Amino acid sequence: MDLGLKGKRAVVLAASRGLGYACAMGLAQEGCDLVICSRSLERAEAAAEKIRGATGVRITAVSADVSQKADIENVVATCVEQYGGVDIVVHNAGGPPAGGFEATAEPSWYKAFEQNLMSFVWLSHAAIPHMKAGGYGRIIAITSSSIKQPIPNLVLSNAMRTGVLGTAKTMAGELAPHGILVNVVAPGTIATERIDELNQANASKSGKTVDEVRQATINRIPLGRLGRPDEFANMVVFLASEKASYITGSVMMVDGGIVAALQ
Ligand code: NAD
Repeated sequence: MDLGLKGKRAVVLAASRGLGYACAMGLAQEGCDLVICSRSLERAEAAAEKIRGATGVRITAVSADVSQKADIENVVATCVEQYGGVDIVVHNAGGPPAGGFEATAEPSWYKAFEQNLMSFVWLSHAAIPHMKAGGYGRIIAITSSSIKQPIPNLVLSNAMRTGVLGTAKTMAGELAPHGILVNVVAPGTIATERIDELNQANASKSGKTVDEVRQATINRIPLGRLGRPDEFANMVVFLASEKASYITGSVMMVDGGIVAALQ
């Protein structure tokens, strides 16, 4: 299937590793030109070099903290300067810290609000005029299975990601007349370094081994394994493509079947 992505211009936030990196690689494999970012320019450049080496596309690395509006605007502006426009944006950010409601202090709420919700607003505001001008637009937000089923001890994720979903759904209706499609992709447990780090932390807290913690997660997943980052990226790449032309305001679960909700 030709996804029609060759030469499209894409921005992927927080892409030096994990899901963001896998999405950038997937889009590059389909021929997109890219701007990626992470807080460390060195790490962003190392990721860009790997993607360039594997695919030969044009890719620019930028240092940006996605909790800063000016940094996000600079990432989008870089895409316009380098490639003449923006067709696709993939919203991603580091996950907020774990914690229950009573244990989470007010400053952490504001930080998560900026890093995980406002970053989506800033990215979209910056990209939409260029998408309108270019006649093609795909806005895709990486969230979490917590949008369907809140996860205990992750109140900030549960709150901010449903905020992204409500915002995306509103935007989908407003932007449809301009041909700009807005969708949300929700990972269950995809094997990234973040999951390794969370498993380590859970193991030291519970006195279990890392393997035991990992296996307990796997036991709850109907497909019987963690997802691979490229399996997650496949959904994002499809939504970015011309082939996803009748999908907007949707939530796509990539979770191996772990969420049992009907909708
Ligand atoms: P990860 O920690 O492996 O990668 C996160 C990336 O974000 C890294 O490249 C890091 O450098 C970058 N980053 C972090 N904070 C940033 C900031 N303020 N500015 C710019 N870059 C920043 O995480 P991941 O597993 O790839 O997850 C990506 C997102 O998806 C996170 O928000 C995570 O909570 C969420 N998520 C992941 C899973 C999963 O199974 N992996 C499940 C649910 C939700």
